[in-house]
Amino acid sequence: MTLRKSFRCPVCHMGVENNIDSIATEYQGRTFYFCSEQCRDRFSMNVHLYIGARGIPSPKQHGETILKCRVLKLEQPVTDEVAERINRELHEMMGIKEVGINGDRVHIVYDLLEATTRQIEEKLEKIGNKVSSGLGAVLKRAFIHYIEETALDNLEHSSNTHSHH
Ligand SMILES: [Zn+2]
Repeated sequence: MTLRKSFRCPVCHMGVENNIDSIATEYQGRTFYFCSEQCRDRFSMNVHLYIGARGIPSPKQHGETILKCRVLKLEQPVTDEVAERINRELHEMMGIKEVGINGDRVHIVYDLLEATTRQIEEKLEKIGNKVSSGLGAVLKRAFIHYIEETALDNLEHSSNTHSHH
């Protein structure tokens, strides 16, 4: 029997075990274990959001969230079946707090500390492509040219986070 140690995913704070399948990364001589590749990639993009320095906790260690809301306007309403798929598969991601689909509008609330806009954009494209290649492109375009974005929390300024928008 091997001794297993459990850790907390530094991005979403879920419990993870280190075993042969561990998703891990090294940073400044320490090994960090993650619940998912999404969390590992998020961590690698802005390590300082998750690791404090010299006794100063990072925003995540403080329990902060950076909630963002993005509203997408599609070219036409999606069917109930597609809406259900988008809803279910987006919720498989870490950091997705809310998904609402109403006709041709899709609104997504997410925690920028757990999911970046690029990760959501890629996920939407992937979901759409499972239905038809055309829908993947439509969802991606709608996500890039969203109609409204509301910062529910202005932490972004102090945490030096930025996306490519
Ligand atoms: Zn995680």
